[in-house]
Amino acid sequence: LTHFLERARTFFGRNEIVSRLPDKTLVRTTYADFYRRTSKLAGALARLGVRPGDRVATLSWNHQRHLEVYLGAPAMGAVVHTLNLRLHPNELGYIANHAEDKVVVVDRSLLPLWHKFADQVRSVRHVVVVPDCPAQGEATSAEIDYEELIAPEKDEYPWPTLDERSAAMICYTSGTTGNPKGVVYSHRSTVLHTLVVCNADTIGVREADTVLPVVPMFHAAAWGLPYAAVMAGSKLVFPGPHLDPPSLLDLIAAEKVTIAAGVPTIWLGILQLLDQHPGKWDLSAIRSTVIGGSAAPPALIDGFKSRHGIDVTHAWGMTETNPVGTLARVKHGLSQTDDATKLGCKASQGYAVPFVEQRHVGEDGQILPWDGETMGELEVRGPWVASSYFGGEGPDRFTEDGWFKTGDVVTIDREGYLRITDRSKDVIKSGGEWISSVALENALMSHPAVLEAAVFAARHPKWTERPLAAIVLKEGKTATKEELNAHIEAKFAKFWLPDDYVFMAQIPRTSTGKFLKTKLRELYGDHLE
Ligand code: ATP
Ligand code: MG
Repeated sequence: LTHFLERARTFFGRNEIVSRLPDKTLVRTTYADFYRRTSKLAGALARLGVRPGDRVATLSWNHQRHLEVYLGAPAMGAVVHTLNLRLHPNELGYIANHAEDKVVVVDRSLLPLWHKFADQVRSVRHVVVVPDCPAQGEATSAEIDYEELIAPEKDEYPWPTLDERSAAMICYTSGTTGNPKGVVYSHRSTVLHTLVVCNADTIGVREADTVLPVVPMFHAAAWGLPYAAVMAGSKLVFPGPHLDPPSLLDLIAAEKVTIAAGVPTIWLGILQLLDQHPGKWDLSAIRSTVIGGSAAPPALIDGFKSRHGIDVTHAWGMTETNPVGTLARVKHGLSQTDDATKLGCKASQGYAVPFVEQRHVGEDGQILPWDGETMGELEVRGPWVASSYFGGEGPDRFTEDGWFKTGDVVTIDREGYLRITDRSKDVIKSGGEWISSVALENALMSHPAVLEAAVFAARHPKWTERPLAAIVLKEGKTATKEELNAHIEAKFAKFWLPDDYVFMAQIPRTSTGKFLKTKLRELYGDHLE
């Protein structure tokens, strides 16, 4: 425990890399300089009146100063609250009030967004503006410039010794299925999670790595990698707000990125571009692409592996699991191995990472067998799995002995590989049978004309619900309902086939890039009535 606490303190406050490798590049700056700036930020926050436990919010893209807040605020006892800048201003107002944020650190380019909900937030005392983004918003006199704020502070902050159970971060869920819910992470859970992300059995971030976190840093899904990079002494590369596939590929090639993480949509775009221009980008440095946040279709995993020799790590996680809960890796060149088969054909999300336990339960709460077939709700337990929501919402999702009910429906096979078959809210209940929307989506996405497929439930007078598929076709390609059904009919019972297809230019998505099936149901839910 002593060792752990020491580790936690060095991680947030006095990183050992700073003394060992002061001149090593962290982002654009060195570890030593980053440490100085983080200390100054801590001093400045204390001067503004931030006390242990106070919330410091960020409204920021991925960049170095955001990382300074990530490290500096928890180390001085404050709690970082990352605001999801893709939410509606009213939702942002709700969340900032709910968390009682005291200071907000805002990118200059996001000031117009902040000004849309600033009036609604009663708790905020100070607004700090991060300068280095394209100037768009005008700061008012009440807003403080980040660089001016930290400039007068000392290079060394007297870091307090903190209780490992005290809060380090707070983040709200994406709001895919309802109101966003706040999840609080302790120093202990954040540090343990980071250690596991650095572990060779998982993603294995190490000193020699150059890490590109594509997921926006306001999501819990994004902070595993930046924290791991800082703990391991890696170099970090931030993409800025430009997440288009050509810019990302240029960056990956130029910076010789070894590990990159993002949601499937981003990787689908990148794979398409790689297929169109084979050999254009030198990606030989890449060790692993981490794909998660929603299900990575087998066609995506196989495409990277077989056509471009790139290893894929498929991760499942939730805001409530900090985020990594389970993961699985496909190594290229091992196409016939167990791993590849499971990941490619079965689209497995892998198995629980060290310290996390998994099980799935039936509708009456009975624990189900690991036979690879029986579907049930996934429950997880572990040191960084939430044990409550901030404000006490949704108490029924947490059991007394520490299990969290994920709301994801899975099968688990004999070896413990799990497969997310759906969210419990997205399973299609047709005449008493369950149909997995994800399984249909994966099969449809293997059709050469299909770029994306989202399957959802439409109300049906006889069967209660029937599957409907929203399809985005690849550029210049066509496909009909009959062709698509013919393509997948060998894989499924007849009653699984979608009753109809809607072809769209794009599928509505959440801020995290997930299919917004609530929206699809709103648009087409009565299509079969
Ligand atoms: P809310 O809880 O507010 O409705 P949300 O569940 O989308 O929103 P997040 O915590 O960002 O908020 O997302 C977690 C969910 O994302 C998981 O419950 C799961 O359904 C989905 N997910 C994440 N990774 C994967 C993956 N690799 N495969 C399939 N689904 C995934
Ligand atoms: Mg959720």
